[in-house]
Amino acid sequence: MTGFELQRRRLALGMSVEELAEVLNRHREEVEGWERIEGNLSGATARELDWALALAEHEKAFVDAGIPPCPWVTEHEKAVNFKDPKAVTAYLEGLDAHASDCEHCQKRRAFAETLPPLPKMPLPPYVGLVGNVKEKIDRLPSWLQPAAWGAVGIGALTVVRGVVMVGLRRVAITPQLLLGLLGAILVGAYMGAVGGLAYSVAKKPAARLGRFRPYALGLACAYAYLVAFGVPDAIIDQGSMLRSWSGWVIFGLVGTVFGLVVGQSLFKEGEA
Ligand SMILES: [Zn+2]
Repeated sequence: MTGFELQRRRLALGMSVEELAEVLNRHREEVEGWERIEGNLSGATARELDWALALAEHEKAFVDAGIPPCPWVTEHEKAVNFKDPKAVTAYLEGLDAHASDCEHCQKRRAFAETLPPLPKMPLPPYVGLVGNVKEKIDRLPSWLQPAAWGAVGIGALTVVRGVVMVGLRRVAITPQLLLGLLGAILVGAYMGAVGGLAYSVAKKPAARLGRFRPYALGLACAYAYLVAFGVPDAIIDQGSMLRSWSGWVIFGLVGTVFGLVVGQSLFKEGEA
């Protein structure tokens, strides 16, 4: 996103610089500064802006189409403390029960499906939460720590995405959706743990490889994923490609390419 594009989207929304700054919780001088940038804005700034503008564009689309917000949601949303997970869960449950027979909500949901999808939400730094988790993980043996960080990180990311999806898009929560979310959280945590464990194991031997080190780490992670997902897949799925040796050769080749790409992009720039 360039500064000009930012200004064009802001004006199309009929928003003043002050209003956009308030939505972003930034100073107006910052927003003005971004709009003067001729080239691309930095990645983090662009993601933050894209998210805020996309939400406002969605809201404007509803207003332009003459679809009012649901009075029940407007009223109840004000009372929710979004920092309290229990309150959010209770609200979402109430929303589920409400939305299934509310004509406002049904109408909004049908209309939302015709709009372009929202970009990924930029994650705010949950400093307090991470601090608490860090204490617990620090007590684990050091070889387990990357796995725990991976599991917590990717698991938490999935939770946040799920809450955002359900909360902001105002989709009703069905038992299927909850099951899907739970599955996604478990798979996410499993993936994080596998990657972290592979990294722990490969870290020391890879350190001796000089400039091939990032690629060795990437390959270790890719092969760990291959085994972690391939073996259960071969056992559960009768039609799995991984029931034959040729399947493993193909997957091994794909894994090698993937590992080299991951090594280049993830580990080459320092892995803090
Ligand atoms: Zn409603």
